[in-house]
Amino acid sequence: MSNTNLKLNEINELATKILLKYGCDNENASAVANVIEAAEAAGCHSHGLMRLPGYVATLKSGKVNGKARPTIENLAPAVVKVNGHNGFAPYALQQGRSHLIAAANKCGIAVMSLVGIHHFAALWTEVEPIANAGLVGFACTSYKPAVIPAGGTKALYGTNPIAFGWPRKDNPPMVFDQASSVMARGEVMLAAREGHTLPDGVGVDINGTPSNDPNEVLKGALLAFGGHKGSSIAMMVELLAGGLIGESFSFEAAVRDNADGGPPQGGELMIAIDPSLLGDADNWSDHSEKLFHKIKEQKDARLPSDRRHKNRIESNRSGVMVADILLDKISTL
Ligand code: NDP
Repeated sequence: MSNTNLKLNEINELATKILLKYGCDNENASAVANVIEAAEAAGCHSHGLMRLPGYVATLKSGKVNGKARPTIENLAPAVVKVNGHNGFAPYALQQGRSHLIAAANKCGIAVMSLVGIHHFAALWTEVEPIANAGLVGFACTSYKPAVIPAGGTKALYGTNPIAFGWPRKDNPPMVFDQASSVMARGEVMLAAREGHTLPDGVGVDINGTPSNDPNEVLKGALLAFGGHKGSSIAMMVELLAGGLIGESFSFEAAVRDNADGGPPQGGELMIAIDPSLLGDADNWSDHSEKLFHKIKEQKDARLPSDRRHKNRIESNRSGVMVADILLDKISTL
């Protein structure tokens, strides 16, 4: 497969230009383009430029308002509510973030609910700024049915990622970000595009038969990671990002969705915790470094996000290789 090298600013400019063309205003276009650029820089290609046609599809169909202005309310000192008013998640998150951080700094812990948003991005881009502000961060969001509950036969849960960020004094934050499915749907789409087969146990075809063909699994359903354990985490995300905050469950989002190929309307929940207010103000950071050190002492063990941090350094220096097949698709936009 042939690729073209693009600098990060070229990726950002390309995404911004296309989003503006299809009706985003500057603020929304720039928030989405920044998330796309960050994903490409970190080597998370399933959530970079590959998502641009999906974002555009929602603007063309009128499902998403590319000029949405999120509104922010403090429902209580430690509870922030952001209404995205049918816009893309990145701008709503960007607008709400300082309110969440301020509330956590004041109260020790704060929660932010986001409703009326369309989420299509990698969650680590959202908890990393929280950790960069010195706070522990958590985020989760639902999607459309893609994952079968343990013991069931039909997709009910979204791929429902959870992300967790931990601030570090002398290093970039430790962040893990994982779908509740064995593999994120974006990774399955990437495998389909690149003609790879899937490992065993990722998903089933439309008849519920295990399949290694990504195209068949995209028509069928994914399995939760770790059987019933991942299934319960997917359910928890439905409850936190849906039931708790007055937004849809994945199955409800699908009913409302116009299936234009872009993200449905849904919700997200974020939590931020200030470690300096939690009892071990002087020692929590050094103490945690001991754990990280112990992990890294073991051969081949690494911290989640180490790969991304390394990729980012390299991408800033040398740019990113983007598949020509994707650039061809984007050029039609
Ligand atoms: P992966 O399975 O690729 O990675 C999950 C996490 O595990 C990452 O933090 C990764 O860190 C870490 N990790 C991987 N290998 C190791 C290792 N050997 N040792 C330690 N840590 C490791 O991610 P998924 O496929 O589950 O998800 C991909 C993306 O899809 C996520 O960013 C998620 O937010 C996104 N997504 C978005 C959805 C949406 O609706 N918006 C829905 C579902 C998923 P590292 O990055 O350093 O490799």
